[in-house]
Amino acid sequence: MKITEHLSSASNTLFSFEVLPPLRGQSIHSLYEHMDPLMEFKPPFVDVTYHREEYVYKKRENGLLEKVSVRKRPGTVGICAAIKNRYNVDTVPHMICGGFTKSETENALIDLDYLGIDNVLVLRGDPIKSESTFTPEPDGHPYAIDLVHQVRNMNRGIYLHEEMENAAPSNFCIGVAGYPEKHEEAPNLRTDIRYLKAKMEAGADYIVTQMFFDNSKYIRFVEMCREEGITAPIIPGLKPITVRRQLAILPKIFHIDIPDALVLELEKCKTDAEARQVGINWSIQQSRELMEWGVPCLHYYSMGKSDSVYRIARELF
Ligand code: FAD
Repeated sequence: MKITEHLSSASNTLFSFEVLPPLRGQSIHSLYEHMDPLMEFKPPFVDVTYHREEYVYKKRENGLLEKVSVRKRPGTVGICAAIKNRYNVDTVPHMICGGFTKSETENALIDLDYLGIDNVLVLRGDPIKSESTFTPEPDGHPYAIDLVHQVRNMNRGIYLHEEMENAAPSNFCIGVAGYPEKHEEAPNLRTDIRYLKAKMEAGADYIVTQMFFDNSKYIRFVEMCREEGITAPIIPGLKPITVRRQLAILPKIFHIDIPDALVLELEKCKTDAEARQVGINWSIQQSRELMEWGVPCLHYYSMGKSDSVYRIARELF
């Protein structure tokens, strides 16, 4: 079922979450252990992130370092099929431009279509760690909008090889990312929202936001999107803080602000267990306000740890 159908048919705020594929070589059961408790809250869908290949240095026998390329968290497509089968929920694989040619993307989309997966979250991906700007593959997409066009074309039966006749159209529901505190590369929020609008006009059906800790930023973002003419559902993404060092790490990685009140609470914590409790309380409060405001779904970034999301969901769903 499509995410937009889940949203429009729901009578209450929906609960969903995002998982990461296990590290290369780890069993899928490590993921199930994390997911099993959360299924109690009946998420209609679960997102699975995609991770591009990264360069790592390996020591050779002669002592020299060798640069090799490795995907640390492979398996997004297979995991989506496995989760769908095990829990009977819809899965949303993230599809990224980075590291993929258009043809490789088409192959992945064909696999997803065969597997009965109805949704994709389309993203550009971040620059690789050694580069400051995003570089697409020689025959890849520079922006998420270009990948939206590709999926949309497939939905119309237009594949990359134009000589294909009687092509079967896919029927993917397409999600894209939005940034209440603007994407780090955008000159300002309004411009970022204009590019977001272009993604919607290219065929995207719904938006999931980057994490934020101040609801007024999400509300302002939604208002600005509506002013710009974006009518699609905008699902808020929430991340409960789980350890003290995230105070420094999250703003650096995700280019988001942590409000003063939350910083002060976290600074008082002497242990990570205390910080986790502060994170849970904050997230519950944020969720309650957003539910009252009428959001269609609350989407949690579990980042491989289910404990906090479980305790939040137990209070709310
Ligand atoms: P785009 O929409 O392409 O935008 C990128 C930047 O380019 C923005 O600053 C935008 O304003 C600007 N821009 C857009 N169009 C144009 C244009 N025509 N001309 C000039 N500038 C333009 N990353 C992963 O690698 N794997 C994941 O699974 C993953 N999941 C995510 C899930 C969510 C909900 C979010 C919010 C992010 C996720 N990311 C993931 C991170 C994401 O890939 C990065 O934030 C990336 O830097 C931007 O992706 P985008 O799809 O927003 O890019």
